[in-house]
Amino acid sequence: MMSGMQTMPELRRHYFLDEYCIIAAERGRRPTNFRRDEAKPGDEAACPFCPGNEGMTPPSDAVYAGRGVLSDGAERVSGWQMRVFPNAFPAMVSSPEPVNRVVTGEWTALPGQGYHEVIVDSPRHRENPADFSQEHMERLIRVYRDRYLHYSESSLAKYISIFKNWGREAGASFSHSHSQLITLPIIPPQIKMELDAFRRTSFCPFCNIVEKEAGSSRLVGEDDDWILIAPFYSLVPFETWILPKRHFSSLGEMSDAESRSLAALLMQALRGMKSVLNDPPYNLMIFQLPSGYHLNIRIQPAVSRIAGFEKGTGIRINSIAPEYAAAKLSESAKSDGRSPKS
Ligand SMILES: [Zn+2]
Ligand SMILES: [Zn+2]
Repeated sequence: MMSGMQTMPELRRHYFLDEYCIIAAERGRRPTNFRRDEAKPGDEAACPFCPGNEGMTPPSDAVYAGRGVLSDGAERVSGWQMRVFPNAFPAMVSSPEPVNRVVTGEWTALPGQGYHEVIVDSPRHRENPADFSQEHMERLIRVYRDRYLHYSESSLAKYISIFKNWGREAGASFSHSHSQLITLPIIPPQIKMELDAFRRTSFCPFCNIVEKEAGSSRLVGEDDDWILIAPFYSLVPFETWILPKRHFSSLGEMSDAESRSLAALLMQALRGMKSVLNDPPYNLMIFQLPSGYHLNIRIQPAVSRIAGFEKGTGIRINSIAPEYAAAKLSESAKSDGRSPKS
């Protein structure tokens, strides 16, 4: 019997944090169908993100149309390509009711002060981000950069989180493609730990990842400015990271050429995931700070359950080795024929 064809589970330590994940890949059992739940047909009429339904959302702060960046007045702007407005059910608000900073003298509570906005990133209800044109993805990256720069001026924003949830299982409440931005009055603990690790080394840990992973079996793709990898420390099956080869902290520091090549590599990542995993739900997260950091983008298919072991230990079990994921994703880019560099 060859049923003993299982690779040894491995505890893999994070590149530079004291965190672990378990890679427990079973050779004969490698699921590659992670299809997300699809929206029911005919739900456009009730979709607040669809053109014509702008009145169902709060007025826009920024409407990106061919004729420039506009904002809603008494009349809502139509004919847009992307539309940015405050989330109707925000996690953070700009003027919260005053709360006591310290509730009991023992435990801390801070006002949830900040901004939470929705970026409707396609005017087409059924458009899959993996099918965006290069031009449209370039536009989305410009919008991410614009909104990041806008909030980086605010004293309320210590941290700006930009992310995209695709599919209900990934947390999206609407099937119409959109991204979100939430500002926080604190630096999240995860980022704080990363910054502490930066201080302990004489080099940038992310520059080190770029250098080492570029020559590894986990490299999925690259162009002149960016690399796409299935990271050594992968928390979920087919997780990918995109890192700039040049050391810089935020989208605000990106050149126009870097912005265009990022769009191309991001499209390769999304197309690869859609084709290899049959359009899975996923979370896409942009990690950035105004300075002293190395921008990175992480894409995690939302396909594994967080259950008792994960909650009890903080350690995730990933059933797909990143080396296998990288091979599958590169193969798909080659057959796709649109890989920036093959
Ligand atoms: Zn819609
Ligand atoms: Zn760096």
